[in-house]
Formats: sequence, C-alpha cells, structure tokens
Amino acid sequence: MQTHLTLRGLVIRETAFHDADKMIDLLTEDGIRAVQVRSARKAGSKFAAQTQLFTYGEYCLRCSGERYYLDSAVSLNQFYGLRTDLEALALASYFSELIRKTATDQPQPQLLRLFLLSLHYLSAHSRPVLLVKAVFELRLMAELGMMPNLVCCPVCLQYLPAHPVLRLREADMLCDYCFQFAEDKGTAIPVKQSVLLAARHVIYVDMERLFLFRLKGESAGEFYAYAEQYLLNRLRMFFPTLKFFRELNGPETEQDFILPE
Ligand SMILES: [Zn+2]
Repeated sequence: MQTHLTLRGLVIRETAFHDADKMIDLLTEDGIRAVQVRSARKAGSKFAAQTQLFTYGEYCLRCSGERYYLDSAVSLNQFYGLRTDLEALALASYFSELIRKTATDQPQPQLLRLFLLSLHYLSAHSRPVLLVKAVFELRLMAELGMMPNLVCCPVCLQYLPAHPVLRLREADMLCDYCFQFAEDKGTAIPVKQSVLLAARHVIYVDMERLFLFRLKGESAGEFYAYAEQYLLNRLRMFFPTLKFFRELNGPETEQDFILPE
C-alpha cells in the first residue's frame, strides 16, 4: 500500500476536527480525498493559508490506515477575488455541495477543471455571477452523463427552430409546432433561439472555450432559469447552499426560479 502521495487539488470543504485539527475535502483529478490536517486551527499554523476553503494547491499526503494526513502543501491559487464577495463565495459553496453530492469514486478530471474555471471567472468578476452559475450547472450535468439532447427536434428533425421549447423531464428540445402535439407539456420552457445556442455551446464545447460567449437581456434570464431547473429536475435533491444563494440574490430573482414539484 502506498504510504505517501503528492497530488494537486482544490479544497472544497473544511470542518473543525478534534481540538485543533481540521478535516479538508480535496477535489482532485481522481475524485475527492478527505484529509486530516493536524494543528491547523492553532495560531500560527503553517498550513493555515494552504488549507483554506477554495484554495488550489499541491498537497503531499501520508496515508496511515484508512486516513490521509497532510505532510506539506504549496498553494497555487487562492482565488483572492472570492474572499471579499459574499455572493461569489455563496455560489462557490453551492458548487462544492453539488460536487460532493454527485461525484463518484471514479477519476473525473473534468469536474476539477470545471470547478477551477468557474472559480477563476467568479474571482475575476469578469462574467455575471448568474451566468457562471448556469454554465456550471449545465456543464456539470453533461460531465455526469445527464446532458439533455438538444441536437434537433426529435419529431421533425429541425436543427434550429424559431421557437424552441426545452423539456425538462424528457431532457430534449421540441419546435413549438411539434410541442403542440406533445403528450407531456408539464415541465417545458419556451426559449429564444439564442438560449438554445448557448445551452448547446455549454454542453458540447471544449472546456477551454466554455465561458467564451455572452447572453443579453431576456435571453440571459431564460438561460439561467433553464440551467437551474434542468439540474434540479434531474438530481431531485435539496441544496441548502442554493437556498442561501437565492436569499442573497433577493426576492425578485426568486420568482424567476421554480423548484421542481
Ligand atoms: Zn418539430
């Protein structure tokens, strides 16, 4: 059994442990590792900065029994822009909860890349917070193999209908003409063409170009609503961190978002 290993990871949770230790969850390319950090909560701890929430770094771990202990750490990115922005921090916490509830034991390097990329844009404040949220939600679904099929209307095979309707339960897109004859109309969102294009981009494009698009006005609102409702419909889970994020966003955005029944 390997007793030492060095890996790069992102701290996605920190919790107090024993009198002065803490436990951190590291998201790595090989999944999540729970690591005990000795004396991390003592004044002057040498690991204070490197084991802070949402720090990306290189960690040398010692494995003893069933448990990992931190031996040494180098911080590679602290995402300083997050630290002074409560809304961005709340959103990052929601991402963390999503990852912790959906990641498996299998290596999923794309989840780490998605998280780091999203933190970069949140920290740099170069994209609207709600856009970062929607992109993360929809791409996460794709990475988990739960992506919607948005290639064309499955009935008439139209690639880019003038009035697309995105269905949540069926995870597909119909043109508005075929939608009239669809049996299940319950969980469907009529959207603009630009929203369909944005959703396709987020699902299918290379990770490097994930955030390289813009949406304006009503289209942006429709896209945000679709991404969140699609995720909640698929996962059927409750996320306390999402509730907190919504409360920060105020009552006017809350009515745009509807939780699945
Ligand atoms: Zn059609």
